[in-house]
Amino acid sequence: MRYQSSTPKRRFLAGVRCPKCQALDAVRQVNIVTPEPDEYIECTQCGHTEHRPDPDAISAKNQLEDQLSRDAMSTGTSGTVKFKP
Ligand SMILES: [Zn+2]
Repeated sequence: MRYQSSTPKRRFLAGVRCPKCQALDAVRQVNIVTPEPDEYIECTQCGHTEHRPDPDAISAKNQLEDQLSRDAMSTGTSGTVKFKP
C-alpha cells in the first residue's frame, strides 16, 4: 500500500482564467510523477489541458533578451554626445 508518492497532486490556481473557455478559478495545476514527472494545468469546466512553458525554454528566452538589451544599450552609449566646455 504505497501509492501516496505516485498520486497526482492537484491544486487550484486562484485568479487564473482558462485559456480556452475563460472560466475563472476553474483551472488547476496537476503534478504527476508517473509514468514520468510532468506538470500541466487543466480546466475543470471544459477539460482543457495545457502544459506550462518549459522552465528551460523560459530561461533561454530571457538570456536572449538580456543579450538583445545589452546590445541595444551598447549602441546607445556609443552614440552619446558629449558637450565640450
Ligand atoms: Zn476551460
